[in-house]
Amino acid sequence: MITCADAMELSRELREVSDSPRLDTELLLGHVLQIDRGALRARPERVLGAQEQGEFHRLLERRKRREPVAYLLGSAGFMDFDLEVNPAVLIPRPETELLVELALATLAAHQGKPLRIADLGTGSGAIAIALARHDPAWSVLGIDISEDALAVARRNAVLAGGNLRFRSGSWCEGLAPGSFDLIVANPPYVAPGDPALHPDCAWEPPIALFAGDDGLEAIRQIATHARRCLKPGGPLLLEHGFDQRGQVAESLTAAGYRDIEGCKDHAGHDRLVRARRSPASRAGT
Ligand code: GLN
Repeated sequence: MITCADAMELSRELREVSDSPRLDTELLLGHVLQIDRGALRARPERVLGAQEQGEFHRLLERRKRREPVAYLLGSAGFMDFDLEVNPAVLIPRPETELLVELALATLAAHQGKPLRIADLGTGSGAIAIALARHDPAWSVLGIDISEDALAVARRNAVLAGGNLRFRSGSWCEGLAPGSFDLIVANPPYVAPGDPALHPDCAWEPPIALFAGDDGLEAIRQIATHARRCLKPGGPLLLEHGFDQRGQVAESLTAAGYRDIEGCKDHAGHDRLVRARRSPASRAGT
């Protein structure tokens, strides 16, 4: 029999694979015992039952193979809610919270208005749900090509409490021309073999990470197709790689957007871009 304090000692086994071995161990142990980290720390002498011990060891072994904690727990925090996640969907990152904040700032003058918003490559539904939660007057559509991802997003939709739908499609496939007030996407933007990719990402869906030889294929496609679906003057908001700002801006300019503005992430890297469809252009042009 081992105690919680003994179990926490095993965090040393994660030192090689994790930047946060104690936190990971607390989260896994708390998950097994169904208590939060505060309760866990308050009771270091609590003894684990045989079943709890077995489950804890199994999770620790999986973490040692770099399986992300979010997949082991089956959930990840995003903005002010917890999403279900599994290996069919990307684990939401803090950068993507900034993308939501940029969308909210962009729409600040449109609270309570019946806007139409699309989230392309919605994955777990993180962005779409955050926007739908913010204003029930907004009608949010999340699109994804992966049926497995859509199944997760649809289960997460209970978190939205607003006007939210999900549907199957590749980027803007099937969207009516000139019909959206805002389009947002955290597309795949990593080049295969990129040495900067964290090893834990090997567990995430490649389709959500990699895009063409240079990582920019999805962004180019979205730039081309989203313009047609936006209302004149409507904004497109994208997340991108820290070294892609120039190329993303070029693609957006070539596709006919204007007012192209970049934003940095918490680490000070270029990460987000906002551009607008030209106010004068007509749907379909
Ligand atoms: N930010 C992620 C990473 O580098 C990539 C996410 C994405 O491609 N959209 O791990």
